[in-house]
Amino acid sequence: MQTNRRNLIKQISLAIVGIGIAPIKDFAFPMNLSSDESGNNPIRLSSNENPYGPSPLALSAMASSIKMSNRYSWNITKDLISAIAKKNNATVENVLIGAGSTELINVIIEYLAFQKGSFIVANPSYTNWTNTASNLGLKKISVPLTIDKRIDLKAMLSAIEPDTKMIYVCNPNNPTGTICEHEALVSFIKEATKKVTVLVDEAYLDFTKETSLCNLAIENKNLIVLKTFSKIYGMAGARIGYGIAQSDTINQISLMQSWANGGVSVVSRAGAIASLKDDDFVRQCYAKNEAVRKYTIEQLELLNISCILSNTNFIYLSLSKYKKDFFELLKANNIQGTNIYEEDGKWTRITVGTMQEMQKFISAIE
Ligand code: PLP
Repeated sequence: MQTNRRNLIKQISLAIVGIGIAPIKDFAFPMNLSSDESGNNPIRLSSNENPYGPSPLALSAMASSIKMSNRYSWNITKDLISAIAKKNNATVENVLIGAGSTELINVIIEYLAFQKGSFIVANPSYTNWTNTASNLGLKKISVPLTIDKRIDLKAMLSAIEPDTKMIYVCNPNNPTGTICEHEALVSFIKEATKKVTVLVDEAYLDFTKETSLCNLAIENKNLIVLKTFSKIYGMAGARIGYGIAQSDTINQISLMQSWANGGVSVVSRAGAIASLKDDDFVRQCYAKNEAVRKYTIEQLELLNISCILSNTNFIYLSLSKYKKDFFELLKANNIQGTNIYEEDGKWTRITVGTMQEMQKFISAIE
């Protein structure tokens, strides 16, 4: 059984290499679905998942919606879109849902690919989708971060070329955890959207006290804001995310979905509606993440590992002064981390798990 699985994985990897698609670096593969307290399964500190989710209300809504799986989900879709619109002070015409924000990034770049041209993205940032964009014929323009690992908005503006169609801003930024200053971001958007579409990815904004840009997106046809249920709502495996934009923009990008808003299961939709009602759960996740992140950063600093101030559920850390083999120690202790994002400074990223997981992580590397 184990051998067959290994063979299958090997065959898939060979096939991926064979057809020339770069493997996704960010997500460890293969992955177990959970890490248990006995330590038999890996501790997953690789993909910025919420270790506490889904919320109890979401779990119960998902369980009772399973029996509706024989039906297409018109009504529940309507309810979810209304709930999302209400949460973001928008109308239902401003909302598009998809199987995670990944699906929505895909439909946006497919839409832009018709017009050809280039797109701008910070480096390092969340770039899992950029190979797809390149495969669709869009040229990538990478803009380095500032010295303090923030997105360089001024440099992004200057990087706009005559054929540039889109600028992607991950706020807070993955993998660095840094956030753009609100006023600076608003004026950047005002300038940039005169020429290009700006896509602001707010996957991690719920871990901060910052204001969302959804209200601006409703007014500006060249601004799209992406949100997900994968992070603070703890529903990464349920695959559900959404975009907020002006209704014309939503109409245009939804043409890239053969069935607009149709890509998410009835079970996930029910979970998402319930999640939006579970403010207690969100508050608890926020507070736990803050406490465990603080503990982890303090412990890492004691080990001579410097960290960038994080606004998220992950930490960007430099191994340049750390003398042991960090990745070997993670492997030996069955902990999944990520890779080196920047050789200069040996920067890597670790997700903030539960307190118990982070204590195990710290004892593995100390
Ligand atoms: N955007 C960012 C910045 C992410 O880090 C991730 C996943 O880690 C995603 C989007 C993908 O989210 P989803 O699960 O909604 O597809």
